[in-house]
Amino acid sequence: MASSSFTSNAPNLQKYLDLDQNGKIIAEYIWIDSEGQTRSKARTLPEKEGGYKPEDLPTWNFDGSSTGQAPGDNSDVYLKPVAVFPDPFRRGKNILVLAECWDADGTPNKYNHRHETVKLMEAHAEHEPWFGLEQEYTMLDLNDRPYGWPPNGYPAPQGPYYCGVGAGKVVQRDIVEAHYRACLYAGIKISGINAEVMPAQWEFQVGPCVGIEMGDQLWVARYLLHRIAEEFGVKISVHPKPIPGDWNGAGLHTNFSTKEMRDPENGMKAIEAAIQKLGTRHAEHIAVYGEENEKRLTGKHETGRIDQFTYGVANRGSSIRIPREVAAKGYGYFEDRRPASNADPYQITGIIMETIFGAV
Ligand code: ADP
Ligand code: MN
Ligand code: MN
Ligand code: MN
Ligand code: MN
Repeated sequence: MASSSFTSNAPNLQKYLDLDQNGKIIAEYIWIDSEGQTRSKARTLPEKEGGYKPEDLPTWNFDGSSTGQAPGDNSDVYLKPVAVFPDPFRRGKNILVLAECWDADGTPNKYNHRHETVKLMEAHAEHEPWFGLEQEYTMLDLNDRPYGWPPNGYPAPQGPYYCGVGAGKVVQRDIVEAHYRACLYAGIKISGINAEVMPAQWEFQVGPCVGIEMGDQLWVARYLLHRIAEEFGVKISVHPKPIPGDWNGAGLHTNFSTKEMRDPENGMKAIEAAIQKLGTRHAEHIAVYGEENEKRLTGKHETGRIDQFTYGVANRGSSIRIPREVAAKGYGYFEDRRPASNADPYQITGIIMETIFGAV
């Protein structure tokens, strides 16, 4: 698609958006497809006193053969609502509905990674697991070139862009700001944003979130980002190494703690014990930490090598980093730096629980 095909007629649209909805609301059902992209479609529901909870919402379905989630001869995939958020696009009483995908035979769809993770979170809930995810992403123009990069060449080397301020250092701050506000409106626990090391790369953080809430919130935050960028004619890439060479990749650093790790008396002991366990299952974790992560985890550009498990205090070249402040205080959390920006947060949070506390 050529960039000239992007048009918007926002002022003309506004008079329709102001129309009364006549006692109806619009529910946008969101799900995750076979490629780890969000999909969505909308339906009309009657307005409900006190608003909708997941259990009040109808199960729906979609054509799984069009999303790589089902064969054509048995294509219905069911959408089971699991979380509801205020809709920052339609506003009013309209809602976003995050749904799990289920097959017609009553089993979870192959790409429903939430279902198993819910079981792990429930089984080990007494440990009060908190997660904080750092979602890095790259903005591309409609020709798949990082936004603001010269069409036939490269920007000046990395250095001025991280947390950069000013023209020539950062692009599309409007999208970042719009996304931040939309997350707050929707009740996403967004904890911050920053411009990243590679030009056109940004990060937002969500957390701390408890248990399954982490995956739910991150997926909706991703959906919001893609929707907002769509309005600005910008593509969002979560590829872990969008540009080969001396350019930082993109990760989904996963910060984690339990009640025991946050205990001022013995926190560091619990952190060290958890890291020991993670070291015994490095390959299993890497297997669900994102596609093409080998292009990113090279041991350069603030990463650990994909074939080695390492940890250290304040070390951004290791698999696991214990923040300096945590080491100094003797309790808190650690950061798993291995997950790629395109990983599924349900799979990441699930395997961390499984490795540390056992399978269910
Ligand atoms: P970095 O220094 O690696 O760039 P960020 O500030 O981007 O870290 O992200 C840190 C994340 O860790 C945030 O999402 C924050 O909510 C989360 N976090 C802070 N404390 C804890 C904790 N005790 N347990 C889990 N996550 C935490
Ligand atoms: Mn149809
Ligand atoms: Mn960060
Ligand atoms: Mn970062
Ligand atoms: Mn980090």
